[in-house]
Amino acid sequence: MKQIYFHSVTLDKDKCRGCTNCIKYCPTEAIRVRNGKAVIIKERCIDCGECIRICPYHAKKAVTDPFDSIRNYEYKIALPAPSLYGQFGPEYTRKRILKGLLGLGFDQIFEVARAAEIVTMATQKYLKNPEIKKPVISSACPAVVRLIQVRFPSLIDRLIKIKSPMEVAAILAKNDAMRKGIPADRIGAFFISPCAAKVTSVKAPYENSRSDVDGVLAMKNIYVPLLEQMKKQKTAGDTHFDLSGSIGVSWAGTGGESSALGKGRYIAVHGIRNVNAILEQTVRESLKDIDFIEALACPEGCLGGPLVAENPFVAKANLRNEAERASTGIGQAPLDDDQQYIWESNVEYRPILKLDDDMVKALVKMQRIDELTDELPGLDCGACGAPSCRALAEDIVRDNAVLTQCIIKLREKVDELESE
Ligand code: SF4
Ligand code: SF4
Repeated sequence: MKQIYFHSVTLDKDKCRGCTNCIKYCPTEAIRVRNGKAVIIKERCIDCGECIRICPYHAKKAVTDPFDSIRNYEYKIALPAPSLYGQFGPEYTRKRILKGLLGLGFDQIFEVARAAEIVTMATQKYLKNPEIKKPVISSACPAVVRLIQVRFPSLIDRLIKIKSPMEVAAILAKNDAMRKGIPADRIGAFFISPCAAKVTSVKAPYENSRSDVDGVLAMKNIYVPLLEQMKKQKTAGDTHFDLSGSIGVSWAGTGGESSALGKGRYIAVHGIRNVNAILEQTVRESLKDIDFIEALACPEGCLGGPLVAENPFVAKANLRNEAERASTGIGQAPLDDDQQYIWESNVEYRPILKLDDDMVKALVKMQRIDELTDELPGLDCGACGAPSCRALAEDIVRDNAVLTQCIIKLREKVDELESE
């Protein structure tokens, strides 16, 4: 069966100048430049957003839902990611931000930070199970889950099979609304997202048949209207919100999720290349003394997501401020039944490196790639549109490129013809 892929990260062809800057930064070698324009190979892309960050011409973008899509629902719920609190200076307290969201047209707010605390408690329980193989890997960052899906199949079983804070927040918020008598089909839950990977995980979930989130709004798109709204409102007044404690707020930064777990041997890694390196070490079983790996694809974690408005280092200071203002520790009561937050299905291996279903043919192709790589100049210049000489060799073996796309090989060929 042919697999259908949804990707939030897409190319604006008109803006792309074919400069090849993006091809070398893609962690899964998913980009080629062909006929002067970048092309994303769908099977390989994990929606990490690295190419959005790197493109000097803003030709890569994340497709999110327009703000007006909230009007498709009678009862509108905002699910702000905790990274939203880092986008504004100290005068904009969490309550002001949440009241500002109400002012923009939402009927209810449910902090994803509260759901993060629930996920923390569920993870603490999960880690006590003596049967699980350690280190276990957080599944909170969808780009990391996708990376494991395409490159590290042996680590799929290490992923914590607990729904993400975004999904848990959507379930709890909708339950609250239904208890008020609002019919389920009139409720829309909208996540305010720092990244493209979350959009993909909502539109094409890997762990459930469907997401409980109905739409994803880009944080940077909501930033200006929210700021204007907060300026208009001046204070949060006496509006009541159920708030998370400092643990939930801190989840947005690097180390937030792992330090929330309390004592233990944890690694907090951020930035897709660093994540890749740690996952390679995990495969080699050289991290046996580690219990838990918090892995976030973006530099500085969600505060460095491609859809945020503020510089991640400034956002970090803002977030720290907000965490200090919050009640210490976990503000959320544990849930009696956490079974509904367990993944409904396991993620599947999506092999991008497989050359052929037939083992013998695959070995022959692998050998051909090695030979071609030796034949190519080894400059990894990117002029052929592939990220490295080996990637071009693989493209040739897969019948997606020809040897003379290498400009040095082309020159050799021309010289050869001229001397005949
Ligand atoms: S960085 Fe990639 S997407 Fe951006 S202009 Fe260059 S080739 Fe095109
Ligand atoms: S989003 Fe990430 S994986 Fe996808 S093409 Fe861009 S850099 Fe590559």
